[in-house]
Amino acid sequence: MASQRTIPGASARPELTKLSVRARLLLLALLVLLLPMLDRVRLVEATRTARIEAAHTKAVDILRSGVDAQSQIVEATRAVMQVAARNYMALMRAGGDCVDLLTGFKTSVPWLLGISVTGTQGRITCSTRVNAVGIDVSDRPYFASARDSLSFILGDYIINRASREPTIIAAQPIRGATGSMEAMLLASVDLRWISRLAKEMSDRAHATVFVIDSKGTVIAGSTGLGEVIGSNFAGNALIGEILGKARGTMVAESVDHVRRITAFASLPGTQARLVVGLDESEVLRDIGRETNIAYLQLALIALVILFGAWFGGERLIVEPIRELARMSTRIGRGEAGLGPRRRAWAAEFAPLAAALDDMAGKLAKRENDLRSANRHLEELASIDSLSGLANRRSFDARLEAEWRRARVTGEPVSLLMIDVDHFKLFNDTYGHLSGDHCLRLVGETIMAAAGRSSDFAARYGGEEFTLLLPGAPADKAIDIAEALRCAIVERNITNAAAPAKLVTVSIGVGSLYPAGDDNAQTLIEAADAGLYNAKRRGRNAVVVHGQVEILQAG
Ligand code: GH3
Ligand code: MG
Ligand code: MG
Repeated sequence: MASQRTIPGASARPELTKLSVRARLLLLALLVLLLPMLDRVRLVEATRTARIEAAHTKAVDILRSGVDAQSQIVEATRAVMQVAARNYMALMRAGGDCVDLLTGFKTSVPWLLGISVTGTQGRITCSTRVNAVGIDVSDRPYFASARDSLSFILGDYIINRASREPTIIAAQPIRGATGSMEAMLLASVDLRWISRLAKEMSDRAHATVFVIDSKGTVIAGSTGLGEVIGSNFAGNALIGEILGKARGTMVAESVDHVRRITAFASLPGTQARLVVGLDESEVLRDIGRETNIAYLQLALIALVILFGAWFGGERLIVEPIRELARMSTRIGRGEAGLGPRRRAWAAEFAPLAAALDDMAGKLAKRENDLRSANRHLEELASIDSLSGLANRRSFDARLEAEWRRARVTGEPVSLLMIDVDHFKLFNDTYGHLSGDHCLRLVGETIMAAAGRSSDFAARYGGEEFTLLLPGAPADKAIDIAEALRCAIVERNITNAAAPAKLVTVSIGVGSLYPAGDDNAQTLIEAADAGLYNAKRRGRNAVVVHGQVEILQAG
């Protein structure tokens, strides 16, 4: 059993065909734009990734310079303390003053806060700090480590309880002649440099720099971190991760709850970590601004191209189509010519424009032909073919028109009703063809009698003719009628069977001023009545209706 299926996209097709040319052009422009736009977006995204990577690299670079600075300090401290240890033994043997010796070293090394000497039991016996003498440090891990290993030990970072400043204790055992430890030299290293370094870094690179000890306590850091220095963040996920590895990078929320691109590494000789963070939102804001500018540029370019497509479509396609439509409309209305022409048609429109032009030319010619054919037909329909005079139909129309005109102008209208006398006898005598010829001669004569352009001669029917004389008063009409009657006689056409032996005509004259209920028919009746009287009075006569005036030959 066949089932009906919907073809995907079939319903969308008619919608597409409804789109205007301009809309299609815009669609095309958008399609053309799509690739460079996608490329631009890809470029923007690549820039974004590159910038994030660059931020990572920057954090690592800052970190490296911090670690280097720390290494230099540690190495310098070790060297100074080894020299101090040797000098101490020599001095003791010479019975010199311990405090003077230590003070000399302290003043020569700016980052040393204090130098002390302990006995083998860990009690401080001599120190640049007076209040430190007598303190027992035997329980400190660095003391035990240095004593056991008999070598230079750098203790962990600690916060000075009195000054709340970060410090680190360096321990150097002093060995006697037997090789066993006789004393221990302790130096307290000023770690404010870290904060200075951190501040310098943060000022230069907008970075956050801080140091955490192995227990997760922030012991130094850049400005802004003041409130977290000394606080322990062992429970913080980021700190936990940092303490778990020797070095690394990550993007995570820092101890101050700001997401940072973070790089960290352990400081040489210690369990502490130097951490450098770049504010992710700041890095991204910068990139975001660039991205926005790129998208804005894209939008502007798209706008310009779309506007161009719209405007170009209007000028190059829609406007010519409208003009062609106007041309077609004009042709449809039968207006001659195509009006003002465009200077140049685009190649695609030229054939259509030429076709329309050609069509207009042909239509105009055809219309002219039609007009002349109509004129010819009208002439044929209004002319009597035998005599060449106007026929009855056009006579009636002309009479009506003249009658109306006279009613307006107040002029008279005269009419001659002309009938050939004894024409039946003529036909009988000479045949129908000769009769036709005779009628043509009579017609010619009547035409010749119509002197003015307004005079109108017609064949009324059979052997009857009319001569309409607009504006002619009765006496003028009588004169014309009489002259016509004579002219027929003068033609001297033999009609042997007729009493006069010649072809003659009887003429009834009607002459009226249109008034009251009179109409054109009244004039015909008047002329007819005149004709009737002319016949009655013996033919070859002119009779005016309304007055007994007989003009007869002979
Ligand atoms: P009257 O003097 O009283 O007018 O007599 P008449 O013979 O002229 O009048 P009648 O009406 O008796 O005859 C008119 C004739 O005209 C009859 C007809 O055969 C003839 N006739 C009418 N039309 C034509 C035509 O077109 N050609 C020819 N040859 N004869 C025509
Ligand atoms: Mg007649
Ligand atoms: Mg007659």
